Amino acid sequence: YRKTIIAGNWKMNKTLSETRAFAEELKPILPKGKWCDVVLCVPYVNIPAAIRLFKDCRVAIGAENCHYEATGAYTGEVSAEMLKELGVKYVIIGHSERRQYYNETDLTVNKKVHAALEVGLRPIVCVGESLEQRELGVTMELIAYQVKCALSGVSADKLRHVVIAYEPLWAIGTGKTATAEQAGEVCQAIRAVIRKLYGARVARSVTIQYGGSMNPKNAAELLAQPDVDGGLIGGASLKPEQFVEIINAAN
Ligand code: 13P
Repeated sequence: YRKTIIAGNWKMNKTLSETRAFAEELKPILPKGKWCDVVLCVPYVNIPAAIRLFKDCRVAIGAENCHYEATGAYTGEVSAEMLKELGVKYVIIGHSERRQYYNETDLTVNKKVHAALEVGLRPIVCVGESLEQRELGVTMELIAYQVKCALSGVSADKLRHVVIAYEPLWAIGTGKTATAEQAGEVCQAIRAVIRKLYGARVARSVTIQYGGSMNPKNAAELLAQPDVDGGLIGGASLKPEQFVEIINAAN
């Protein structure tokens, strides 16, 4: 069966010294329970330190992006294998900020999902609609399309390593959370898409997260939705005490 995954996405925040300070604060207050997996996705340059700092605890380290080619003339880019060798376990793919600002498309997302799975990294694939798209009433079709594109060519066997994160664009960094019903409804629809493509057993095994202004106040209600299996947390993952409260809410 699928596991709940609470993942932080630091985005472009925290220097090396701030990463150290965060780890020192978080580790003593980190709940010991194993009911959910805990991940922190941090900027590339902080990854080696983060892996050392969290080696002896339940926090796995993730990256926020990777390139889709294994090697080559791609100045400034980082491959999935480079991450894997450092001890990275997860990689966020197709975050809406990368789709908006760095020309990520459903096609590059699909290539990156394959690149991650190829080396044994678990991709956290982000999908989500804009406010305009929600108001036009095309949310479900759009999400289904994004999920199908992202997973194109992925075998059922590999799919259990994939995490999907539903992040409505209008809820990201806005303090405006989707209601639990809205989040639950879309996550349920995502699972239905996977069920159609891969069957019920595989669909049940895939972790589907909600992301977008998740915080200690709203986490429990969002996570109580049957198809919401975790959270991808931006702002609240930068504060150890808030991140811990969300981990506790995943109980
Ligand atoms: P916030 O939690 O800051 O809204 O960010 C959500 C997000 O984009 C996580 O990937």
